[in-house]
Amino acid sequence: MSKVEAAAAHPPGDRVACTTCYMCACRCGIKVHLKDGGIRYIEGNRDHPVNRGVLCAKGAAGIMQQYSPARLTKPLRRVGPRGSGEFREIEWDDALATATEWLDAIRRSDPRKLAFFTGRDQSQALTGWWASQFGTPNYAAHGGFCSVNMAAAGLYTVGGSFWEFGEPDWDHTRYFLLFGVAEDHDSNPIKIGLGKLRRRGVKIVSINPVRTGYSAIADEWLGIRPGTDGLLVFALIHELLRLERVDLAFLARYTDASWLVIRNPGKADDGLFARDAEGRALAWDTRRDAAVDAQAPDIAPRLAGEVMLPDGRRAVPALHLLAERCLDAQYAPDAVASRCGIAAETIRRIARELAAAAFEQEIALDIPWTDSAGRRHAKMIGRPVSMHAMRGISAHSNGFHTCRAIHVLQMLLGAIDTPGSWRYKSPYPRPVTPAMKPAGHAHQVAPGHAMSGPPLGFPLAPEDLLVDRDGAPRRIDKAFSWDAPLGLHGLMHMVIRNAWAGDPYPIDTLFLYMANMSWNSAMDPAETTHMLSDKVPSGDYKIPRIIYSDAFYSEMVAYADLVLPDTTYLERWDCISLLDRPIGSAEGPGDAIRQPVVQPDRDVRPFQDVLIDLGARLGLPGLVTAAGKPRYRDYADYIIRHERKPGIGLLAGWRGAAGEHVGIGAPNPLQLERYVANGCFWTHHLPADQLYFKYANRAYLENATHMGFLERARPIVLQIYPEVLQKFRLAALGHGSVQPPDHHRARIATYFDPLPIWYMPFEEAAIDRDAFPLHAVTQRPMPIYHSWGSQNAWLRQIYNQNRLYVHRRKAASLGLGDDDWVWVVSAHHRVKCQIRLVDGVNPDTVWTWNAIAKRAGAWNIAPDAPEARRAFLLNPVISELLPPGEREHHANADPVTGQAAWYDLRIRLEPASAGAVDDTAQRAPLRVPSSLPPAPLRLRYGAPFAPGERAP
Ligand code: SF4
Repeated sequence: MSKVEAAAAHPPGDRVACTTCYMCACRCGIKVHLKDGGIRYIEGNRDHPVNRGVLCAKGAAGIMQQYSPARLTKPLRRVGPRGSGEFREIEWDDALATATEWLDAIRRSDPRKLAFFTGRDQSQALTGWWASQFGTPNYAAHGGFCSVNMAAAGLYTVGGSFWEFGEPDWDHTRYFLLFGVAEDHDSNPIKIGLGKLRRRGVKIVSINPVRTGYSAIADEWLGIRPGTDGLLVFALIHELLRLERVDLAFLARYTDASWLVIRNPGKADDGLFARDAEGRALAWDTRRDAAVDAQAPDIAPRLAGEVMLPDGRRAVPALHLLAERCLDAQYAPDAVASRCGIAAETIRRIARELAAAAFEQEIALDIPWTDSAGRRHAKMIGRPVSMHAMRGISAHSNGFHTCRAIHVLQMLLGAIDTPGSWRYKSPYPRPVTPAMKPAGHAHQVAPGHAMSGPPLGFPLAPEDLLVDRDGAPRRIDKAFSWDAPLGLHGLMHMVIRNAWAGDPYPIDTLFLYMANMSWNSAMDPAETTHMLSDKVPSGDYKIPRIIYSDAFYSEMVAYADLVLPDTTYLERWDCISLLDRPIGSAEGPGDAIRQPVVQPDRDVRPFQDVLIDLGARLGLPGLVTAAGKPRYRDYADYIIRHERKPGIGLLAGWRGAAGEHVGIGAPNPLQLERYVANGCFWTHHLPADQLYFKYANRAYLENATHMGFLERARPIVLQIYPEVLQKFRLAALGHGSVQPPDHHRARIATYFDPLPIWYMPFEEAAIDRDAFPLHAVTQRPMPIYHSWGSQNAWLRQIYNQNRLYVHRRKAASLGLGDDDWVWVVSAHHRVKCQIRLVDGVNPDTVWTWNAIAKRAGAWNIAPDAPEARRAFLLNPVISELLPPGEREHHANADPVTGQAAWYDLRIRLEPASAGAVDDTAQRAPLRVPSSLPPAPLRLRYGAPFAPGERAP
């Protein structure tokens, strides 16, 4: 009997239920085996498009999430001081009535006084909409402190981005560059892809200061200095341009490389595209010797050299400007090598290898297709070079431009959505730039009213910023203001500080979901917890009210006034929506659901149900009927019946009364049943002629329009030179009706360059680099995602403490040995920890695992657990603010997007005496609410399944 047959003969449970994993953000399909209603085993769903049956350690350990002693059991009302962990249990009616009373008062007076922020929430299609219905612009999820640089740079450049909106063509690529990727983003999908590359012998080059995980299996590891990836990319572009190894045909046809940029220094049109009377961008046609519509199908555009427009103005193609910049000697490999920590000859060789893979190993698939200009192509021809980048690029103050530079490198190689290259995951690409603008202008926010648009969107010009007449931010986190004009995902990392300081205005209620903002999600947790519990002279808290929802007793719970206990991901309906971040692939769109596979055994409710309920109690327009009755029974009902636009709802599969439509269609009352019957996901496979060149593929664009992904079937032109950025810059230079306050002008003029730029990360530029000679970064371990994972009984057995990893040579030069204790000293604070010597790290960089440490008592783990005694956070040495500048203290963030610059940290090491870790984070044990069960001293999960055994 084979193992498979044996397993089939002895199934671990009596029932199998499919759902979607939520032990990290990858959204893998899982099969949960249940026996007598309890979970016995979780396996990957082999039919699922995301993971094809692959399950990681986190996914398998979901069982222990379900049986975690840290699960909250009942609504709580704070009775002791904030941070004490002293609560009394209350009933749901009381909890919801209290929340309604608080929120209703805000809504009737000033809805902006509600700041509603969520963590790694996968229901943003609901939460963002709920904020709009409430009427507050003060909403965002965690993207501002995660990877908004990646998203913003991609969406403003190529109409997609890495990871959630794109993926390498794993089956055809012949050269793979991996920038700044740890083991967490992407997890199973990238492992499957890397496995394919290894089997095909494709070269994998990993550019990362740290050699772990994916870097460890790369053919070549480039241990770059943090924050210099942009310089490396500039040098690669420099070499490709110098060698004339770029795809001019691709650039001319699919990008704005030929679009004419006006040269009119000092004037209001300087740096904008020359346009005709209809607003169409112009290019210089070499056949007609005239400026014509840049998207005319028969054009032979000029890509370099200045031209004179009929009105006498001078202009140059965008590619000309890019070449001017990148061919500058400062970006030659020899000029950047020492700063990047990568030899010039290595950079030159990588450039040659990229070009060889792109141009000498061209891939031709026998798939005829028609482009948006009506040209018929007999084959799909591609450049088989693909790239993937993630937080290591994103979490720097120069991350937006670095990510832009990577996309420009892809364009120069002609390697975007072609066979073998990086590809869009449907429903991407979106138009560059999406038309949805953020709401929150003065005329859009009024007591008792919904906002007329979403709180998050895509500014296209200074007029779209959410600022008052004097330029002051209108949002509490200052997103979409001059502080962070393209703060597309908000600045969650600044909310508590701003609310505490009343800057730009005081709020009343901070409503957080699933965000451990008093611990590992905060820069400097000690300062954050002080701000959460700080009082005004009258004795009231500076942040008057805090409502928090979480499934677990995390460090943040102790600071809430009202706790709304959530279920686990295995106990609720949920929706991985096309309106948020779905599970589509390059082969076609897809979305998914979670279904409750077990019933809660505690007095908890799904947060999404609670939001629907609260919305109805508050009478939010979209959540009540004309008669004022609740419009939706619960979240499951909302998933089925809510329509964002006619025919477009949260799920795209099985729409229409009988489930006969995809994409657009009337609500289907049996939609969830159809998903469940299909393993809790839906996918739509695109026909072969729509699989590549989606930005200019007529059949794809028409199909995407038909399915509701695009408004119009127009080609999407990739942007080497996003003119939008120049509009902000012109405002800073004194043009237009909306201009930044004077103290912002220089920043905006510098960083809103429409061509990629590289600059030294802000902290590094501001401090004494001799005093703080080392970079310090963190990585998330493969088996642990956020603090949820490091409380999981099985995963704790893999990691329950962390060391600071130091290069062996660097340690020797500092007189340090393995296991020595050190102070990690930054310009902000210091942390004491133990080191471990390694070879696989950039010698000027130290690093550690993120989010292992726990505050004693939190998560209901023993006060003397290793996580509380021997693990440390690096967060305390990171400052939320940059060192004081001339006019004001800026956030430690990217100036374009507001992305938190976690990886800009500079430190020095000082010897310390052996002892306990000291990370200045709040270590006083938290009191565990009496409603939580006692933490088991010995874990005996599975005991009830053994014959003759009893549960512990
Ligand atoms: S990668 Fe692992 S934890 Fe993440 S969704 Fe997939 S199975 Fe779950």
